[in-house]
Amino acid sequence: MKKGSLLGKVNKPHPWAGETVYFGTKHGKARAVQGGLRALGIRCITARIDTDAFGTFSGSVPRTASIRDTLQAKVQHVFLKYPQARFALASEGSFGTHPIFGGIPTNHEAMLWGQRDESGDLFVDHLSTRVHHFELEIEPGQDIFDEISKTRFPSHALTIRVDGDPLPIRSGIRSRHHLEETMRRIDRMAGSPRKVFVSADLRAHYNPTRMEVIRELGVKLVERIASLCPICENPGFWPEKAGSGEPCPDCGTATQIPSGHHWGCGACGHEEFRRDPLATGKATPGICSNCNP
Ligand SMILES: [Zn+2]
Ligand SMILES: [Zn+2]
Repeated sequence: MKKGSLLGKVNKPHPWAGETVYFGTKHGKARAVQGGLRALGIRCITARIDTDAFGTFSGSVPRTASIRDTLQAKVQHVFLKYPQARFALASEGSFGTHPIFGGIPTNHEAMLWGQRDESGDLFVDHLSTRVHHFELEIEPGQDIFDEISKTRFPSHALTIRVDGDPLPIRSGIRSRHHLEETMRRIDRMAGSPRKVFVSADLRAHYNPTRMEVIRELGVKLVERIASLCPICENPGFWPEKAGSGEPCPDCGTATQIPSGHHWGCGACGHEEFRRDPLATGKATPGICSNCNP
């Protein structure tokens, strides 16, 4: 037997091993993916682009485009600024309420891995109910330290705005000293005493809870890159959409029992249906909308 032949097959390097991806972020998000990508032999470095130009949480720059379009624009911006880059990565987050379980605060995070030759962008996203996001109203004379004692300050930074002004007077407040100084500044303002609004700073490097969610999404991105197309062997082979439910054994109508996913390759267009490893549910006529309406 040839020495090392088996090893050679098992340890076949990833097609992108030795490559570098440029992550366009101002907020230290490269940390969230570096470890996972390194395991595939891919280096991730921070591309210094002004991502705030694409919209900010504080509202100082409004977000106008869709998440997907914003990600695409950030990736293009990285390619313009770094002519040597073959791969660019961008990320976007938003906060709202859960699309199914209304009222529950959620954090939606998305990432786009772009390729300069446009041979298939890889998009992943993730919805988490792990959120540290709040807005407190502090009336003049109220003790702000008392009010924020229930928040995760100072591990999570604060943003403060004054009643009547939609833009924050200060963001990234991470120490008692910094907070006192900001409050003194507000006291000296014309028209004071005024009510203030204190909220969580949602930028990733100021909000460790959000950074955790981005890290979870990073794991998903790395899984996607590690998944190779069975036909062309390009990275990114991924479940694109859910298949119809398990058929009823009596009449064949699709039930609500999940069966599997249609997987797709963005590089060669190959598609195939794969059963979900956990989809072991059996459909019965009792849950069939046709046999048991
Ligand atoms: Zn049926
Ligand atoms: Zn393919």
